[in-house]
Amino acid sequence: MNGATTSGELRAHNRARLLRAVHEGGATRTRSQLTRDLGLARGTASVLVAGLVEDELLHEEPAREQGRGRPTQVPGPHPRGPLALAADVREDAWELAACELGGRVTVLAVRPHDGTPEGALGTLGEALAAERERLGHRVAGVGVALAGPVRHGGLVDIAHLSWHTVDVPHLLTTPLPHPPTGARGSTDTPSRSGRAGDGWDSAGNPLPSGRAAGAPPLPARGAAAVLGGAGGWGVPLFVGNDTAFAALAEARRGRLRGVRVGLHLHVDFDLGGVLVVDGRPLGGAAGSGAEFGHMPLTGGERPCPCGALGCWSTEVGANALLRHAGLAHGGGRGREQAERVLATSRKAVAANARALGRGIAALVNAHDPEAVTLSGHGVELYERAGGTLRAAAEPYLMAIRREAPPRIEGSALGWRGALLGAMESVFDAFLTPEGLGEWRGSTP
Ligand SMILES: [Zn+2]
Repeated sequence: MNGATTSGELRAHNRARLLRAVHEGGATRTRSQLTRDLGLARGTASVLVAGLVEDELLHEEPAREQGRGRPTQVPGPHPRGPLALAADVREDAWELAACELGGRVTVLAVRPHDGTPEGALGTLGEALAAERERLGHRVAGVGVALAGPVRHGGLVDIAHLSWHTVDVPHLLTTPLPHPPTGARGSTDTPSRSGRAGDGWDSAGNPLPSGRAAGAPPLPARGAAAVLGGAGGWGVPLFVGNDTAFAALAEARRGRLRGVRVGLHLHVDFDLGGVLVVDGRPLGGAAGSGAEFGHMPLTGGERPCPCGALGCWSTEVGANALLRHAGLAHGGGRGREQAERVLATSRKAVAANARALGRGIAALVNAHDPEAVTLSGHGVELYERAGGTLRAAAEPYLMAIRREAPPRIEGSALGWRGALLGAMESVFDAFLTPEGLGEWRGSTP
């Protein structure tokens, strides 16, 4: 079971369970509901909650609807409690937010960037460092979602932007020269984006704080790179793919909640997709598993910036919409025009929906999911052309799949999924006896 043997360990385990239940329930469950759901004795729950309030992890408010008798309390985030800093780095802009226990999001900044690793991650790093300074010990960790495959917890490739093996923790903690340098497209500078030999930099550039040449490689996905040491932030960093994070959020707070096998597809400039099993997106051996978009599911022959031929993602998303409308596409540019095409061009929307449906059919044949969820542009695409999509899928489904096809739905989280998934990755590590132990050590 949990392996807790001493009463101290059991208490630490129950503290983490209770906080996790508050978080997963969106800070809406009353204390008595939580007590019942977790199978705790009433007295035990009272002592636990009192301790968590004292440690500034929880704060109780009276429930809105009161019956007779003693008022019911709803445990929620403490006003000086832990925060996850979460960022969604898209191909043309990033968004940074502070997230409380329970999942409430406060957007701190949205900033367009120039498409270079330094322009995107350097400016985000500065904003993160400033927020870390401002919020102090309240920052439990940082989660960063990126629009490309992420390997070994921090190395990202974004083919449309010519990012190759970009070392995300390094760039987030390397001070920027001002103004940011680097022309768009010329991003292959090995000094900052490449990973040299066993170390992190062999070009005479300063190494990131707390990490020396020859340091061990970044930990595998799911573990954190700690941005610590002198000049560092001293908090865990979780870097992940936007589709995988959107899928994680969908499994925790969206339409894949309680689904054993689900398929999540995130549509932005192109398409990402991942299988979600028992609430977890399948990450692959090195963490870059969320890449159904790079399978030749629609029979096309178009070369994809990823290096493969005929990828599904060349047929779905903002780039494909722009191409169908005869507009310039690629390079993470043209979001507003693509949105206009999505709203006005039935032809471009139908072509996207047909490609989406045909690819979904292939994946449904392979994986037998209970549900298929769509986020990003996928929500609007499905609203506008769900019938076309389903009709396109039908002939490509195996007969046994056609009898009871999975439900297909737009995400209720819309564009927020990647950011929320980045938040969940931080709280997954924090809401453990070890994470909470560090909080107790760090609170003033
Ligand atoms: Zn591809």
